[in-house]
Amino acid sequence: MALLSSLSPHTRRHVQTIMLAYPRLRLTSARRGRLRNRAVGGAANSLHLSGRAADLSGTTADQQAAVRLAVRLHAVEALDEGDHAHVAW
Ligand SMILES: [Zn+2]
Repeated sequence: MALLSSLSPHTRRHVQTIMLAYPRLRLTSARRGRLRNRAVGGAANSLHLSGRAADLSGTTADQQAAVRLAVRLHAVEALDEGDHAHVAW
């Protein structure tokens, strides 16, 4: 899928691991250009700009499980943002 392939290889590998473990999660944001990042309210230094961050949307339980697994996979950012889990490497 195009969103997945926009991620850096390292981040893509970990996001694929999370999505295999919790297959109901949907990848809703990956690499963003500056304009897109600004439009969605992303931080100016967002790791989405370099393809190192991904957003995964699903049930609260699945999002929280994704955050816990991301931490075990040494994510540099792993946050449940309410309507998605934000994870980055
Ligand atoms: Zn994010």
